[in-house]
Amino acid sequence: MSNPFDLTGKVAVITGANTGIGQGIALALAAAGADIAAVGRTPATETVEKARALGRRAEVISADLSTIDPVGRVVDETVEKLGGLDILVNNAGIIRRNDSLDFTEEDWDAVMDTNLKSVFFLCQAAARHMVAKGGGKIINIASMLTFQGGIRVPSYTASKSGIGGLTKLLANEWAAKGINVNAIAPGYIDTNNTAALQADETRNRQILERIPAGRWGSPEDMGGAAVFLASRASDYVQGHILAVDGGWLAR
Ligand code: NDP
Repeated sequence: MSNPFDLTGKVAVITGANTGIGQGIALALAAAGADIAAVGRTPATETVEKARALGRRAEVISADLSTIDPVGRVVDETVEKLGGLDILVNNAGIIRRNDSLDFTEEDWDAVMDTNLKSVFFLCQAAARHMVAKGGGKIINIASMLTFQGGIRVPSYTASKSGIGGLTKLLANEWAAKGINVNAIAPGYIDTNNTAALQADETRNRQILERIPAGRWGSPEDMGGAAVFLASRASDYVQGHILAVDGGWLAR
């Protein structure tokens, strides 16, 4: 029996691939055999170099996903440079923190546009290509706040719970077309995004006490879940939100 997690010959697009979770996932997919299109504002040069060192084809694609303008180009450039598009990982995301009583429209729109609107339209652009080719895999990056409320992050919570609903809806619509749509919900992961939380000694201790695994997750911890959801090992998994959280939700 061949390895069900093998991604040899597949082309994966990962947004926000220059750092953090996006980089961890891009390199895990490359290690499993996929060629990589690393999409983002900051050129993902290091990610691409590391993927090439693994023997993969890898390309940087510049795009600012705070608007949906580039989504068609991202798909076209990937297909042009790498010959196809089999896997989409919607990872790029931002957060804005403030009390809900003071939260501004600007912070609401910035988060919703990047974390939810661009995700939907990139799914649409990629799926149009995938339908024509007979199938594909879409992985959206959700959050613990897909399941929980959080505090002082109203647009982030709305965007990530929106990702949960959208993932299920698109799975319903596209399963019969050979496209799997699933999500990964990371717990507390050690990235630039969470540097301030980790630097706050009291908050860091509270977080660690609450995580059954007793440690922050790493970007590499997200890689195995991504390889599973990108590979034929998950062909019968649809609309699932896979928590990779060291047990946070189990508590
Ligand atoms: P980072 O801040 O380390 O990385 C975010 C990535 O998104 C960067 O590559 C960034 O690129 C990119 N990005 C942001 N805005 C845009 C934009 N407008 N256009 C293109 N790319 C953009 O964060 P993480 O790695 O921690 O987060 C990655 C994802 O995981 C996010 O969706 C986040 O919500 C989610 N997540 C993270 C958790 C954690 O604990 N870290 C927990 C749960 C979910 P650039 O450098 O150019 O800004």
